[in-house]
Amino acid sequence: MRDDADPDEADGDEAGRLRKLLERERAIRRQAEAIAENVTRRLYEADRLKSLFVSTVSHELRTPLTPILGFAEGLTRRWDAISDEERRGIVGRIYDNASTLRLLIESLLDFGQLEQAQLRLTIENVALSHEVTRLVAQLETISSRHVLETDCETPVMVQADRTALARIVHNLVSNAVKYSPEGGRIQVTTVGDAERGMLIVEDNGPGISSEEKERIFDRFYRSHADSGGKARGLGIGLALVRALAEAMGGQTGIDDAEGGGARFWVSLPKVEAAAD
Ligand code: ADP
Repeated sequence: MRDDADPDEADGDEAGRLRKLLERERAIRRQAEAIAENVTRRLYEADRLKSLFVSTVSHELRTPLTPILGFAEGLTRRWDAISDEERRGIVGRIYDNASTLRLLIESLLDFGQLEQAQLRLTIENVALSHEVTRLVAQLETISSRHVLETDCETPVMVQADRTALARIVHNLVSNAVKYSPEGGRIQVTTVGDAERGMLIVEDNGPGISSEEKERIFDRFYRSHADSGGKARGLGIGLALVRALAEAMGGQTGIDDAEGGGARFWVSLPKVEAAAD
């Protein structure tokens, strides 16, 4: 302190500094409490969703299994009493339900591997536009009540695992079908910039509210506002999409499509100086 300094003024400075320190300490404590509260709430919610998941799985597996057993039993008992056309129709229904069951089981297996960090990926150079066009063509029969279009003109070469990419495309397109109304248009696009290749799946369904945009990628999360609760699912599809994309060095996100639907995107690392 200088000799000519006023001691009262110096005490005032010191008290001011202490007050500021105390205020800052209180603000930090309030922040820490808010974070702890938030984490507790999320953990509690995760636990609740996990329990819900177990009962949803049992229900979802039984839903396609019941008609499979019913139709198969009917066929066995009444084979001679029904026409070829009726038989073909019934076998078709058995096939559709068995396919639903297979998809559910495949998702569960993928999810199980992911949870145990056992997912093995084979990363290779993949012509994204070409591969996505091929995958979407395979999904043509996924819904006769929706229009599925691709815009994959620009050649883009990315580093990816083909099976994981197929699972991503399948999950995003089947969600678009599931959550958008009959007659809806689903557009699958691939584009690329200097560093990334991008897959975009857009629909003209109800879209995702801003509060739900982050949560829908959480494991077991299912929206309550979707299609009046009619759509079926386990709440692991988008969690799988995100985990698979990240395992390939990519990212995922959700925006609003023009007209209000959902616009999901997945970016993947681009192969340098190459084209498809
Ligand atoms: P699931 O479809 O089995 O419920 P997902 O993880 O695939 O699980 O999706 C999580 C939630 O995100 C869904 O329950 C649904 O509410 C919402 N969602 C996913 N895709 C769409 C979409 N294209 N349009 C509207 N909502 C969607």
